Amino acid sequence: AKQEGRGRLRFYETRMGVQVRERRQIEHDLRHAVERGELRVVYQPQTRIDTGEAVGFEALLRWEHPVRGTVPPNLFIPISEETGSILGIGEWVLRETCREAASWDNPLRIAVNVSAVQLHAPGFAELVHEVLFTTGLSPARLELEITETALVRDLPRALATLRRVKAMGVRIAMDDFGTGYSSLSNLRAFPFDKIKIDSSFTRSVDTSEQAATIVRTVLGLGRGLGLPVLAEGVETKAELEFLGAEDCHEAQGYLLGRPGPIDRFRDLTTGRPVA
Ligand code: C2E
Ligand code: CA
Ligand code: CA
Ligand code: CA
Repeated sequence: AKQEGRGRLRFYETRMGVQVRERRQIEHDLRHAVERGELRVVYQPQTRIDTGEAVGFEALLRWEHPVRGTVPPNLFIPISEETGSILGIGEWVLRETCREAASWDNPLRIAVNVSAVQLHAPGFAELVHEVLFTTGLSPARLELEITETALVRDLPRALATLRRVKAMGVRIAMDDFGTGYSSLSNLRAFPFDKIKIDSSFTRSVDTSEQAATIVRTVLGLGRGLGLPVLAEGVETKAELEFLGAEDCHEAQGYLLGRPGPIDRFRDLTTGRPVA
């Protein structure tokens, strides 16, 4: 048994070694991802439930690694937050998406994810201002998606930054609502324009009474605070029907459109059918 234990330990160490090396490699490659043009943005429609019309898109980052292929954001964004490379990457995403959205005939909104590291970095509000100025995008068309956990690092600082951004006319959405903590006080204290219900609740609204209750409660909260609510991760008609019946404003998910290159959505961005 002792032998076996040692063998296992060695195996474990080896695997750890691989993981550490792999991580270092990803860290290293990430530093050059922007300049090498390996990043791209895919867009996912956000849809008004009552009319079925698209009102905007969420920008989602993709990394096309020359060897690994597409690396999912859940893998490389946490690493880039630890190393600080998220600052350059986040700036690239903001510039790229605002430039893209400014070119649309149809003035749809563009929602951009902002990491805690970006939000707390000096000069974030100035960056947003400069990008809006440079690209000519109307501030009202930009929505920044912020998670609760991004706020708590330094609440006063986050609040000051968001107030400055909001004063430019930019919208702010609370992302992944329900998965963090102290959500209610944050909702009250911060200048949010929208609540995004996390997909873990949406997914089960049609099958779990508990999930349905949570979603109804968030919708009631939104009504009380005068904030529209978007449900994320809508995959089935049953989920969408439930949300519509409960007066949820907007939805986003595979049922309404998978994230894809913006060219796939030219009918929406031009506002006319594309052959
Ligand atoms: P998120 O902000 O909650 O984004 C929604 C995620 O749900 C996206 O995953 C999207 O592709 C996925 N999704 C959309 N509809 C459905 C659905 O119907 N079913 C299921 N199962 N999933 C759906 P993605 O693109 O892999 O992004 C994962 C996370 O990475 C995002 O979660 C966000 O936290 C982060 N992220 C993505 N792009 C950026 C970025 O530019 N900057 C920062 N800081 N974070 C980003
Ligand atoms: Ca988001
Ligand atoms: Ca989310
Ligand atoms: Ca479901």
